[in-house]
Amino acid sequence: MRRRLTVRGTVQGVGFRPHVHRLAAEYALAGFVGNTADGVLIEVEGPLPDVERFCELLAEHPPPLASVTGIGHEDLPATGTGGTFTIQATEHTTGRTQLPPDTATCADCLRELADPADRRHRHPFVTCTHCGPRFTIATAMPYDRAATTMARFPMCPACAREYGDPLDRRFHAQPVACADCGPGLRLVPAEGTGARPARDAEALARTRALLAGGRIVAVKGLGGYHLACDATDPRAVATLRARKERGGKAFAVMCADLATAESVAHLTDAERAALTGPERPIVLLRARTPGDGPRLADGIAPGSPHLGVLLPYTPVHTLLFGLPGDPPGPRVLVMTSGNRSGEPIVTDDAQALIRLAGLADAWLIHDRAVAAPCDDSLLRVRADGTPQLLRRSRGYVPRPLTLPVPVGPALAVGGDLKNALCLGEDDQAWFGPHIGDMGDLATLDATRRAEAHLAALTGVTPRLIAADRHPGYQSTAHARRRAAEAGLPAPVLVQHHHAHIAAALAEHGLDGATPVIGVAFDGTGYGDDGTVWGGEILLADYTAYRRFAHLVPAPLPGGDAGVANPCRQALARLWAAGIDWTPDLPSVAACTDTERAVLHGQLTHRIACVPTSSMGRLFDAVASLTGACHRAGHEAEAALALEALALEARDADGGEYAFGFAPGPQADPAPVLRALLADLRRGVPAPVLAARFH
Ligand SMILES: [Zn+2]
Ligand SMILES: [Zn+2]
Repeated sequence: MRRRLTVRGTVQGVGFRPHVHRLAAEYALAGFVGNTADGVLIEVEGPLPDVERFCELLAEHPPPLASVTGIGHEDLPATGTGGTFTIQATEHTTGRTQLPPDTATCADCLRELADPADRRHRHPFVTCTHCGPRFTIATAMPYDRAATTMARFPMCPACAREYGDPLDRRFHAQPVACADCGPGLRLVPAEGTGARPARDAEALARTRALLAGGRIVAVKGLGGYHLACDATDPRAVATLRARKERGGKAFAVMCADLATAESVAHLTDAERAALTGPERPIVLLRARTPGDGPRLADGIAPGSPHLGVLLPYTPVHTLLFGLPGDPPGPRVLVMTSGNRSGEPIVTDDAQALIRLAGLADAWLIHDRAVAAPCDDSLLRVRADGTPQLLRRSRGYVPRPLTLPVPVGPALAVGGDLKNALCLGEDDQAWFGPHIGDMGDLATLDATRRAEAHLAALTGVTPRLIAADRHPGYQSTAHARRRAAEAGLPAPVLVQHHHAHIAAALAEHGLDGATPVIGVAFDGTGYGDDGTVWGGEILLADYTAYRRFAHLVPAPLPGGDAGVANPCRQALARLWAAGIDWTPDLPSVAACTDTERAVLHGQLTHRIACVPTSSMGRLFDAVASLTGACHRAGHEAEAALALEALALEARDADGGEYAFGFAPGPQADPAPVLRALLADLRRGVPAPVLAARFH
């Protein structure tokens, strides 16, 4: 009998065809396998039991990086021509096939990297069908070498043999290369550092020496540049912080291996799994007080009980930490995205030399181009052991979300803070990589390029554009321009928190037929009444919502400028609750006389005061009232400080503050504040106040 199978999902660039070939050979089936625009097409011919066994095994044991969303079966008349099973070359069409994300170097490749007898010993770009770059090198679909940034590296005979051998681990592994034919490394020192330029092995050795000597090196990775320095060197860390104008925001660190990570942070099994998984995100961990392991500089994550940790995910990273026989070097490196504060990650080599000038003492560059910027992802593990992605980017993008309801071809441009875009069609939604905060031309340019790249890989041509309803958002202005250019109708403007709740609906596979009670606790979002929302309970489905309840608003003096000053937010909240500004309160003491006078004037005469029901701003106010944070360098700083304070009282006996009820209905925080201040005046320690508020 003959059977045709159509396989959908992430099935290209993952060794699917050789896998099918091996399986067919095992059962001596005739036929072929090929990539199509929609996935993989297989025809097998042979005795019925063998064909059925083949189908079972294919469904049960796909190759490691594959993710099969569906297999269609169709029985055909047998041709009786027999013969062997063949792998067909790929035809070039655009389509819906899913490309895998970039994946950390696999164990086999790491073994070859460290094996002096292997021809890829110390090759900084060792990769195979089971690992390496995908999303960040692909320029079009179907995924084939010609449609990647590896196209400019013709394979040497040895690599071509592996690439063409269905039984080889590198069969059709598009980024495959070796020292003879692949990309090379180059060290470019900044002027005045006294370092000399170098190539390949020498470039790596000198980079290690520079890092060990306290220098900052811009290291080109998969989705852009990192800025790296020795995380145990306080001067190097302080210099990087000052040059990057990063304020108090924490740096992520890359540890040489899991054992090193265990020495700087506490790890649960779930966190260990997240750290070592093929996605290799930054995992937010509880920092460990220094023991025998490396002592990290205090400037890594000032005042935070947390530490963002990741493990090496490219051969270059592994080589930076050194192989056996290399001179000793740092075991923990700061690895922060290569950009100036607020700008998108730098991917282009020429741009890197310009935009990172003054930040880096040297550049470790390679000549494999980055097709799309892709920051490291950020994840934390919840108390119940489930992972929560805080930033979904490298390692996850472009893996799609299956939507519970089909959509027409659409583009959602995202909001202005921590922007990421999304393309959707039928029952799939593809998120773009994390771009950063919208604001300057570089970010807008990055957004345009990210959209073009994702569109090329997914084949989605949007006929509808969605944007935030905020009239002042850059992303919304961008959506309008984008719609006009493409001759599309004006963008659909979506209320910020309705979008959050609709996204949560989709994430949980709900079709929206029954409205849900959606709770959106957020920092900021433009409300339909022109005020700033952020403590919302909405009755919502995908198309509509009703603002059922919210936090009693308080004035936000100075609008978004007030965000940087939690002590002012505290005074505004006290004022709204009718509580006097007595000098014994930490927030009152933290404000200058002038600040208090100006605030009083603003609040009394309602000048430059936008009302806000934001839960984030209430957290800011309480962070200041407990003394955790009066001035914030970045949006979440005060809330993070308050959480850190609350964690100190984890073992104290409970207690909590109850909200009042106001018509609307509204949740009134005034009773919470009064109870908290009463505790404060009774001398209850600040960590307990923070814990009770949480
Ligand atoms: Zn590999
Ligand atoms: Zn080669």
